[in-house]
Amino acid sequence: MKKLMISAVIAFSLFMVAIIAPENQLIPVQGATEKDWNHDTFWYEPWGKSGVHKGIDIFSPAGKSVIASTYGIVLFSGVVALGGNVVVVLGPKWRLHYYAHLSDSRITAGTLVRSSEIIGSVGNSGNAGDKPPHLHYAIITLVPYLWRMDFSTQGWKKIFYLDPGERLLAAM
Ligand SMILES: [Zn+2]
Repeated sequence: MKKLMISAVIAFSLFMVAIIAPENQLIPVQGATEKDWNHDTFWYEPWGKSGVHKGIDIFSPAGKSVIASTYGIVLFSGVVALGGNVVVVLGPKWRLHYYAHLSDSRITAGTLVRSSEIIGSVGNSGNAGDKPPHLHYAIITLVPYLWRMDFSTQGWKKIFYLDPGERLLAAM
């Protein structure tokens, strides 16, 4: 019983440390500025198969380095239907950072990344073939922010999908 209590306290402490860990987010494309994404496209609709756009598109010449916006653990690096070459990093505050449409990824699942470390290059893989090269960047919180829910299309999903543009501007 006592052992269980201690384990629970340790698990809770680790959880809390991860929640308050600083982020210091970076724009995840080398050389990009806030002018390289349209600030009105988060939750823009209609948006293809996704219905609404749950991230931002950072436009950049193909081949530019995609860098990790935060430090974290790479949970996935591979190919999915819509996202093409995708990297998913679990960063501070229990947030997943989703980098999509890469021309290639240079990192393997299970490894640690530092913020600003190169994880791949900008491309238009997946369902972005008819668009100029860009990084689709989304942030998903694993701790639901219930108060963020609203009556927009798929508005309940806002408890998980944060506006990356807002986060990046706040960090500047
Ligand atoms: Zn996008």
